[in-house]
Order: sequence, then C-alpha cells, then structure tokens
Amino acid sequence: MGDRRRVLNKVIKLGDSIVSLIISQKGDSKITYINLHENETTSVTVGKKIIEKYGGCLIEVKAQGQRLISFSLEGKEYQFDPNRIFSDEGIKETLNESNGKAFEVIKKFREELLAILNKSNLIIALHNNEGGEFSLDSFPQFKISRCNGPHEFFYTTDLRLFNSLKSQFSIVLQDNQIVEDDGSLSIYCGKNNISYINVEARYDCYKEQLKMLEGLQKEISKI
Ligand SMILES: [Zn+2]
Repeated sequence: MGDRRRVLNKVIKLGDSIVSLIISQKGDSKITYINLHENETTSVTVGKKIIEKYGGCLIEVKAQGQRLISFSLEGKEYQFDPNRIFSDEGIKETLNESNGKAFEVIKKFREELLAILNKSNLIIALHNNEGGEFSLDSFPQFKISRCNGPHEFFYTTDLRLFNSLKSQFSIVLQDNQIVEDDGSLSIYCGKNNISYINVEARYDCYKEQLKMLEGLQKEISKI
C-alpha cells in the first residue's frame, strides 16, 4: 500500500488520570483492529504489520502498560478491565470498588471507544494469553508446539467468518442468544450485529498470530 499511516493521539481524562488512544489509519479500509490490554504487545506488533500491508485502523489503549487500567478520582484509586466495560453491568462487575462517579467516568471512556468502533465494518480484537498454568516451556521437546496449541484460536460473532476459517484454524462461534453479558466487546458486537473477531494467541507467538491474521485477511477479501 502506497499511502502513509496517519497517527492520531487522543487523550482522554479518566478522573484525575489520563488514558491515550493511539489511532493509526492506513488507507480507507473500514476494518478496525483494537488492542484493549496494553500488556499484550505481541498482538499489537502483528496488527501493525498487517495494517502496513493491507490497510485498516488500529486503536491502541495506552494507560500504564498493564492489562487493567487504573485511575484516581477524588483521592481514591480505581481499577477496571477495559474489556469488561461494554455494558453497564460489566462496568459494575469489573470496577474494583463501587462508586457512582467512577462508573460515569468509565462509561464516558466507553463512549469514546464506541464512537470509533461503531464506524467499522469489522472489528478485529488483538489479544494474547499466558497459556495454561501448566507450562510446556520446561519440556524442550515440546517447544515446537508451544504456539500451535489450544491457546491459539479465533473467537467470532460472525457466522460467515466462522464458516470460512473453521477448516484452517481453531475457531469458536459465539452463541449470541445464550452468552452471558460480562461487558466484553464480543458481547456488545453480538448484540448490535457488528461483525467481530478476536485473534487470540499466547505471548511471543508472533509467527503463528501473524499467520492467523494473514489467513483472516484472505477470507475477508472473499466475503
Ligand atoms: Zn486481552
């Protein structure tokens, strides 16, 4: 792709703290990649590479580099998981201490995110996980399969994507009728008929996560 990446830094106040949304756009693609958990850096590196090649928008939530976002308000510290704020119930659950004002602060933050996300044709959530508690790293003979195991999978709300990817990758289709609303972005998208897919891989499984996103790009171009 010829055109340059445009980068916008949107600063959002969270009580007495600030969070930045780094929004990069390449070309006029309506696909939005989102990194909600700042510590999941492998997925962001992969996302950037894919956008460079195919275009799209990437939102990076930048707070303190952690999975959870902390902020202070009226002398108190609050903490929440940014992937549990997409319903009011979810915010109440994830907020470490119940407080009406803190709730409103997070709700406003959510609206800022949704203002961008709601314009997308497809939302691709970039995540990394730790794998299970039992680590195969202590067994060198298994190293080769570390990144091709049960921790590398797609999770989608979109039946078309599910059908087109299921023969090549592990993929879960969310059942929008029965799934419990924990405030995660996938539930919001399911409820609002927004096409959503999460590309989940263990930390440092760069090559495998890139392969997943490349595979996804091929299928997107077909549907
Ligand atoms: Zn995550």
